[in-house]
Amino acid sequence: MQDALLQSLIESFDSYIHRESDVKLIEEAYFLAKKQHEGQMRRSGEPYITHPVAVAKILSELGAGPATLIAALLHDTVEDTNLSLKDVETQFGSDIASLVDGVTKINKLSFQDGAASTQADNHQKMLIAMAKDIRVVLIKIADRLHNIRTLASMPEDKQYKIAKETLEIYAPLAHRLGIFRIKAELEDKSLKYTDTAMYYRVSNLIQTKKEERESSIEKIILDIRGLFKTNDLSDFEIKGRIKNIYSIYKKMVNDHRVFEDIYDLLAVRIIVDRIETCYQALGLIHANFTPIPRRFKDYIAVPKPNMYQSLHTTVLSGDGTLFEVQIRTKEMDAVAENGIAAHWAYKENKTYSK
Ligand code: MN
Repeated sequence: MQDALLQSLIESFDSYIHRESDVKLIEEAYFLAKKQHEGQMRRSGEPYITHPVAVAKILSELGAGPATLIAALLHDTVEDTNLSLKDVETQFGSDIASLVDGVTKINKLSFQDGAASTQADNHQKMLIAMAKDIRVVLIKIADRLHNIRTLASMPEDKQYKIAKETLEIYAPLAHRLGIFRIKAELEDKSLKYTDTAMYYRVSNLIQTKKEERESSIEKIILDIRGLFKTNDLSDFEIKGRIKNIYSIYKKMVNDHRVFEDIYDLLAVRIIVDRIETCYQALGLIHANFTPIPRRFKDYIAVPKPNMYQSLHTTVLSGDGTLFEVQIRTKEMDAVAENGIAAHWAYKENKTYSK
């Protein structure tokens, strides 16, 4: 029988999960979740099973292992259907049962909204402490990401509440775990509901400035390429970097800065294959562009607590524009994008264990 949803799920992980018994178990979890949620609908009108499948796919983009994907597929069954934790344990073992249990327990927490940021901070800590297993927190973040993506179908008062809670708890949590791609999406999609006017204002401003910016970045990238080439530095990748809507919004609101000051700062990222090459690239940049004092940070020698590593500097280009440069290895870049998930994913996939 043709099952397009199952097909799309399999495609999301078949580049890295190969063991037949693992694939079979994931399929079993899919069919069980589908059966359990039979007749339930999302507010969008779609069958409920589309939600756990979407959550599992978000996690497969982070390279999550089979146990995490299975738990993601089953994450709402114990709370919302007649399936018991014991059933999950019998069919899938205690590791997966404890992941599902962890997610269910977190769902039962209710977050009172209060202005106090310390409260949000406490909630974050509580989530991490309760989870014991970091995979539970990752499933919860993926669950929230899908709910934010589909927030348009919720009633208005709920939209605001969920978006605010996401900004206070889940985005900082994603930041703490270093999953920056997801953090940025959680923030931007939430801002659309917590401050709709500003969301559109900032995104329109970004749109208008886009072309101008893109040509400046292209020029800088060309200059750097030329510089590296004449100095025999090969095997590197350069890309322009764009700030997300929420980070610009926050600077405008909290630091009372104008859009131009924040957005005119161009940024490029240089990715090389070895640590020594990072410093070599930095040396060439500093020797050929004027570095701005106190803007140089060595997070390779001294990584951030969330394991982020990179060299940061800000320099002045030939025509007088300021631009930020980040230099790091491929591996550091993977960790910077997907944070702790990158480490954890590599681990689970290598050993197929917790
Ligand atoms: Mn859910």
